[in-house]
Amino acid sequence: MRGFDLTPEQERLVDEARRFAEERVVPAAAGLEPQGAFCGEVLREMGERGYLGLPVPAEHGGGGDLVSFLLAVEEVARGWAAPGLAAGVSAMVALALGQHGTPAQKERYLPRMAKGEILGCFALTEPGAGSDAAALSATATLCSAPGGDGYVIEGRKLFSTNAGEAGVYLVFAKTDPAAPGIKGISAFLVDAGTLGLEFGLPSDKWGMRGSVDREVFLNGCRVPASNRLGEEGQGFRIALSALDTGRLAVAAQAVGVAQASLDAAVAFVKERQQFGAPLARLQAVQFAAADIACGVDAARLLLHRAARMAARGERCSAEISMAKLFATEQAMTAASKAVQLHGGRGVTNAYPVGRYFRDAKVMEIYEGTSEIQRLVIAREVLG
Ligand SMILES: Cc1cc2nc3c(=O)[nH]c(=O)nc-3n(C[C@H](O)[C@H](O)[C@H](O)COP(=O)(O)OP(=O)(O)OC[C@H]3O[C@@H](n4cnc5c(N)ncnc54)[C@H](O)[C@@H]3O)c2cc1C
Repeated sequence: MRGFDLTPEQERLVDEARRFAEERVVPAAAGLEPQGAFCGEVLREMGERGYLGLPVPAEHGGGGDLVSFLLAVEEVARGWAAPGLAAGVSAMVALALGQHGTPAQKERYLPRMAKGEILGCFALTEPGAGSDAAALSATATLCSAPGGDGYVIEGRKLFSTNAGEAGVYLVFAKTDPAAPGIKGISAFLVDAGTLGLEFGLPSDKWGMRGSVDREVFLNGCRVPASNRLGEEGQGFRIALSALDTGRLAVAAQAVGVAQASLDAAVAFVKERQQFGAPLARLQAVQFAAADIACGVDAARLLLHRAARMAARGERCSAEISMAKLFATEQAMTAASKAVQLHGGRGVTNAYPVGRYFRDAKVMEIYEGTSEIQRLVIAREVLG
């Protein structure tokens, strides 16, 4: 990564994560992705290497370094995007806990998240509330009980990444269904194993096949009042700030996939001979490689600008949306051009470019579609 002003520790992290991706992640992707199997083993190793702990605040055993986390996600995603998605969603929960948790909540979850012992799951989307997430209809009703007050949560969540694998679920539900818009939404921490927390089958996806998402059913799920994250009515604000972190991680996954597409295209066109010379000798091919390279670097620059602003605690939702939008669209463009440069071989499973293409498409959708990112940016531009 030239020109990015990384610290010596970050340079070492990038080198190490790149080796890890080449030696462990790429073979895991080749073996597991075609079967749609979960990337759990890669995540376990990411935990052991400390990557999952990087976004967790240092006082709770983590690295407290968002930029380093994103560097690690980019390198891992260069090998396989799916573990990047799982790690990014878990980081959203860890950062929300770090920002809004009580001391007891932080102590309970963050040290285990820092070690990669438990993953987080972010359960916002519902069948009737996708891009319009504030339209959610799950409810949390406060009930008094001799052992202490608690909430009973009822609802159904959709597309919850890491569901069934996570140790803690950040669930958004209405504590005041009569309140307009986002006002009645609150956030809750629900432990794996809580009675009434049930899951559907994993989504049968054609992209991001190594990441798992399931429907989450909250069937009279009872949690103590001390499991509410933040105040009643603050839930949507917490969701939006968590989504900012998540979108940075998606941009990092996208830069990784765009870079992998460039790497694959370059290797192929140097090798493949047509008309008596390697394809790389053709100027049309050289221009395609130059365009992909520009897109990768521009996406990385937008990501690192936004990441550094976020790490400094500056207001930067529009910059984050620009990074997410541009990086995911560049990943899609780069993967599409890489497939094209591979010719017929590009659409066979003998080469990874088809996986990059499928994964990049999904990135344009989760954690806010490209259209929703444009809405966020336009709001900033137009006021
Ligand atoms: C692999 C994967 C992982 C996911 N992980 C999670 C997770 O961990 N937690 C979670 O809560 N959710 C998760 N999601 C859900 C994801 O965030 C939603 O799918 C996404 O926000 C879009 O919602 P939707 O699918 O309901 O599409 P819809 O909202 O129905 O949108 C359909 C189309 O309409 C467009 N559209 C909608 N509104 C507007 C508008 N106002 N202006 C212009 N265009 C608009 C959209 O951009 C899209 O093109 C995941 C989804 C996927 C596919």
